[in-house]
Order: sequence, then structure tokens, then C-alpha cells
Amino acid sequence: MKLYFLNSGRVEMKKKIFIPDLKTDEKFELPVISTYINYKKTNILFDTGCHPSVEINAEKRWGGLSKIMTPINMNGKNLITELSTIGISPNDIDIVINSHLHPDHCGCNAFFKNAEFYCHEKEFQSANEPNASQMGYIKNEWDLPMPLKPIKQSYDFFDDSRIVTVNLPGHTPGSIGLLVNLNHNKFLIASDALSLERNLDRDEVPKNAWNPNLLLKSYKELIKIKKSGSTIVCGHDEAQWKNKLEMGINYK
Ligand SMILES: [Zn+2]
Repeated sequence: MKLYFLNSGRVEMKKKIFIPDLKTDEKFELPVISTYINYKKTNILFDTGCHPSVEINAEKRWGGLSKIMTPINMNGKNLITELSTIGISPNDIDIVINSHLHPDHCGCNAFFKNAEFYCHEKEFQSANEPNASQMGYIKNEWDLPMPLKPIKQSYDFFDDSRIVTVNLPGHTPGSIGLLVNLNHNKFLIASDALSLERNLDRDEVPKNAWNPNLLLKSYKELIKIKKSGSTIVCGHDEAQWKNKLEMGINYK
């Protein structure tokens, strides 16, 4: 099994969205992360980051959301270019799993024409609600001709406990994480069920959470998984990204 964490965008947001006690309007930059896994000759992606066009004109694709979550110019670096550096073209991807359907997590879905797409059933429902755009969903990003497979319970892709989804609702109704069990390393890729490492240590609930109580319950689940020896990979933690995950790390 191979696993790479890939740079799939960068956004600027108000810090107090993630650190609710903060009183200032100071902004900070957040990494956007996708995970590529190769296992049993299957190419898998967990999340697809931001669409490449948003670094130039985010408003056109994201509308008003681009004012709250503002993409940063990456000088042409995006998930597609990052995949090419490890020799993978979009048509090689067999499976795409979306942690949830916000546009910084499914923005490149359209590129993967040969893939099957997986997402929690409740996430599809929620992205289809009449008020979906107020909840940060953008239909163009995820409503595509490729087949969609809804997940209900935790789903073990190869029936061997190596790649398994974990339900972690709270940020959105159908948020999921992915447990990846390599031989010597175990990862729980939490996506926005845990935005910053400090949120878990302090039981801190970001202001963009759909349901704070459910998110706190998901934190409990994450603590259990952490105690069992997994590294929790946060959705948008710059320090974790820079120190531990950034491109170049290749787990085999
Ligand atoms: Zn996010």
C-alpha cells in the first residue's frame, strides 16, 4: 500500500471561525489536503481539494462563499498537477471518496471520469436541500454524470480493515473520515471533523460547525481512535501539514 498527502489548494479565512474565543478579525492561511492511496492495484483519492480555476477567479465558481473562504494563488499548483508528479493522471483514479461536499473537498471531482464516487448518504441529502448554498454546498462541484455510491454505515473497501470509512458528523450531517491502516502507520484522515489539532485538545468547536453537539461526539470518537495508535490528520492544520505531511512524505 502507498499513501501520499497532496497539496490541493490553500485558502484564507478569519481565525476566529476556528478559534471561537478570539476577538480579533485577523485572518490566517489554511492548507487544503487530499490523500492518494494505492492498494491492490486500485487508485483511491480521499477528497479532491479546490478546483484549479479558483486561484484566479474564485467568485465565478464559489460565489459569495469566496469572501468567507478565499482561495490563495498557488501558481498553478493543484491536485491534478500534484498527482502528475507521482505519475498519476486523472483517468487512472478508480475510486474517489469525499469526506463531505464542500467545494474545498470535492472541487476536482469532475476530472476523474473513470472513478466511482463515495460519500455518506446524509451528505448527498444535505447537499440537495433547498438551503444547501447557505450551508456552503455548490452543486456544480459534486453533481456529475459519474456513478455515486452512498455510504450509510462504516464501509470497509477491501473487507480487510485496511481502508475503512468512519462516520464523524457535526461539521456537516454526513461528514466521514478515512481510516488507513498501513503496515507500520495508521492514519485517521479526519477532514473537517477536526479542522485544527488544537480544537481536539480544547474541545473547541469551530463556528462553521452544522451541529456542535454532534461534532463534540465525533471528537470523542477521534480520541478513541488516537488512543488506539492512529495519527489523526486534520482538515486544515498548517503546522501539522508543514511539519508532518507536506508533499515528499511517502508511506509504503
Ligand atoms: Zn474544509
